[in-house]
Amino acid sequence: MEKLTLIKNEKLNCRECGQPISGRCDKRFCDDSCRNAFNNKLRRSIGRNLNSINACLKKNRNILEKLYADNQLSVPKASLERMGFNFAFFTHQVNPDNKSTVTMIYDYGFYPETKNFAEEQIAILRGDEVGP
Ligand SMILES: [Zn+2]
Repeated sequence: MEKLTLIKNEKLNCRECGQPISGRCDKRFCDDSCRNAFNNKLRRSIGRNLNSINACLKKNRNILEKLYADNQLSVPKASLERMGFNFAFFTHQVNPDNKSTVTMIYDYGFYPETKNFAEEQIAILRGDEVGP
């Protein structure tokens, strides 16, 4: 009973303009224009996040593609990082032989050739070499 009273007495403000909201207690915006403005901003910000993630993925893929085209199929990890490769961005991982994990960036992939990931050689391959 006390809790209900507290919720009822809480002043709700529009998430867009900050004005106090009157009417139904589950309203989050004062009107449609505030709701549309809020949702448009949210969509734009999600779009920006996706764009920056996609840019990192594309950059990683382009680095692998270029190395593969140059037949550089075993590269020190540090060299990849110097080229701007970011190991945090990849699309998926596959286990072609159920032992080693190949990390994929779209249609190119890489895996550590040595156990010590800190100073290791990275092997580069193309997706059609590991199957779907
Ligand atoms: Zn508003």
